[in-house]
Formats: sequence, C-alpha cells, structure tokens
Amino acid sequence: MEMEYLTEDALVAVKELLPDSAEGDLAAVCSWADEIRFHYHWSSALHYADTPDFLCNYKYCRDCHDSSRFRRKDRCVTGAIHNYTMQLTSVFRDSKSELNYNLTEALMFLSHFIGDVHQPLHVGFTGDEGGNTIILHWFRRKANLHHVWDTLVIDSALKTFYEKDLAIMIQAIQRNITNDWWSDMSTWPYCGNNETVCPNQYASESISLACKFAYRNATAGSTLEDDYFYSRLPIVELRLAQGGVRLAAVLNNIFASKAKIAQA
Ligand SMILES: [Zn+2]
Repeated sequence: MEMEYLTEDALVAVKELLPDSAEGDLAAVCSWADEIRFHYHWSSALHYADTPDFLCNYKYCRDCHDSSRFRRKDRCVTGAIHNYTMQLTSVFRDSKSELNYNLTEALMFLSHFIGDVHQPLHVGFTGDEGGNTIILHWFRRKANLHHVWDTLVIDSALKTFYEKDLAIMIQAIQRNITNDWWSDMSTWPYCGNNETVCPNQYASESISLACKFAYRNATAGSTLEDDYFYSRLPIVELRLAQGGVRLAAVLNNIFASKAKIAQA
C-alpha cells in the first residue's frame, strides 16, 4: 500500500532497486527479511528492540543491542532503520556511489523493519521475548502472544470482515486513513530536528501500545476471544497504516531528486 503514497521520483528509484522477482511491487518483498533471517543469521536481532520488563518505555542507548552475551550496540530494529536509511541516503543524496552498499537489500530491509518497529510487540519486554514466550489461546487455538499480534489478529479480521481478501482489508484501512484518521495522519511522517526517519519515536509508541493493549489481559494460559479481538484490531490497523504512510514519506525524502531539494 505504500506504493500509492510515493512521489514520482521515489517510485522510479524504488522500481529500479527492487529485484526482478518483485515485478515492481514493494509489497512483494516485505516478507523477504523474515525469510532470510536464518540464512543471514546476523540479521535476526534487527527485527526488534526489547525493553526492561514492565518499564513501558524505550531508550536507544539502553535497549538497542542484540541478545548475545556481548550485547552488541546498535544491533536492533531502530539501529537497523538508521543504518539502512543512511546507506540509501548517502548514495542517492550525496552520491557517494563508490561505497559498497547493496542498495536492493537496504531497501528491502528498511521497508520490512519500518513495519516491524510499528508492531507493538517488536518493542516488548525482554523477559518474555516480546510476547513470544507467553503461551495462551487465540479463540480455540494454542498460540503465543507475539504471533497473535504479528499474524492472528489480521487473519481473524480477514475472515470476519474482509472475505479473506487482503486487498479488501488494505482498501478499508486506506479508507480509514482518508476519513477518520485524516487530521491525525498529516502528523505521522513528521520527525523533529529535520530528520528523515525517527525510529526511536516509533519504538516509544510501540512499547506504550504494548503495555496498554497487547500485554493487558493477555497473561500466560489465558484465552483471548472477541473482547480482546474487537478492542485490539483498531490498534493493529492503525499501526499498519502508520507504518505504510511513514515508510512512503521516508522513501519520498530519500529519493527526492537533487534539483527538487535545491529548490526547497
Ligand atoms: Zn521482521
């Protein structure tokens, strides 16, 4: 859905960078980073940034590291978003094209991680691995809380409201963006300090939503049903929309032609 919010310049650049297999569609490569996370083992820490248990806030210096015993700095989802934005920007804006970045991978990682950082439980508590170790029931099915937020809420919404058709669900979310969320939406892409991207802000929003909505009434062994589903679905849809709108804004910014930047 991001493609519809891209400027002409960004659209051209994105299509050029995408692998042939994507056939010009950014959405087609969004799961690529999940598929390769076991092959590119180094990348698996980059999908999340967990916080100390029950604090409900996020701090880059404290929380952005991998979970190895070395706790390597910057190896988390917000660090990765900074890194891949820098790679793309350095080549397209400053034309340091001698640098050896793989920009196709940078674009695919960036698109995926901006989605991940908006999923509240990708900035969850360390002790339960962002809900992965909280085992409960989603209606009659056994599941972990992280998977409920990654997949099962969306699956249930598709079945209940959207005739199992993702395109219809995306259309409905877009209609929401242009109606109810419109006034709010104009503020989504805005980062303070003239920054292109502000993953720390997205991560702070996520842990706050995780505490208010994801973890609440979802303890190990509980059964999540209609109450939970109907009250959390709007949050899932809001975060999908925010992720999409912000990704488009970031790509528009990175790929704005130099002539236009000079004019501005
Ligand atoms: Zn991921």
